[in-house]
Amino acid sequence: MDVILFGPAGAGKGTQAKFLVDLLGIPQISTGDMMRAERASGSELGARFEGFMSKGNLVPDELVLELMEKRLTQADAKGGAIFDGYPRTLAQAEALDALLAKIGRKIDRVVALDIELPDVVERITGRRVCLDCGQTYHVRYSPPPESGVCVSCEGTRIVQRADDSEQVVRHRYSDYKEKTAPILEHYGQHVVSHVDGCGEFGEVTGRIQAALGAA
Ligand code: AMP
Repeated sequence: MDVILFGPAGAGKGTQAKFLVDLLGIPQISTGDMMRAERASGSELGARFEGFMSKGNLVPDELVLELMEKRLTQADAKGGAIFDGYPRTLAQAEALDALLAKIGRKIDRVVALDIELPDVVERITGRRVCLDCGQTYHVRYSPPPESGVCVSCEGTRIVQRADDSEQVVRHRYSDYKEKTAPILEHYGQHVVSHVDGCGEFGEVTGRIQAALGAA
């Protein structure tokens, strides 16, 4: 099964995708995570991502496609994948269709997590992340331990991402509305399910499961 978790930054795509990995037995493919890993590795490609990401701008399609092409050929993605933060432009959506068609697959469902700007700002500016394992926290809803030690990996580098400032969040949201949201039309109503992205984690998970027919 190939599923796109769709929505603006802060909709909960990453957290929900991690849950779906266990439920569906297919990997999460997050271009944002892949780019951050590339940056952390100190590679030349990672350095090229840096300038776009720190300002909240989209990385050019050709660089993203290169990453995606490599990732989809890995063995764990043979039976499908949960795409998180990809596609973000029409060109990426068309390229994904073509890549999947080559291996006899197609996007089975797009789950769009609906959320408005004020909720996005609240969620993202309060987000903190462990640089070592990616575990996320929220200063209000799931605060990082006072000890500063990550509950998942015991690392001590829990930080606010540079692109999680309010100014950058607002910019990313308007980019989402302008360049990303319109691609839902590319998939059409029979493939897209809209899900309310607000509420408790478990509530939203239930709605996603229902949309996937996996409840
Ligand atoms: P995310 O972790 O999905 O919020 O992505 C963080 C940042 O990585 C974005 O603001 C973009 O700069 C970049 N990025 C991630 N995925 C993509 C993509 N599919 N296309 C272009 N840029 C991306």
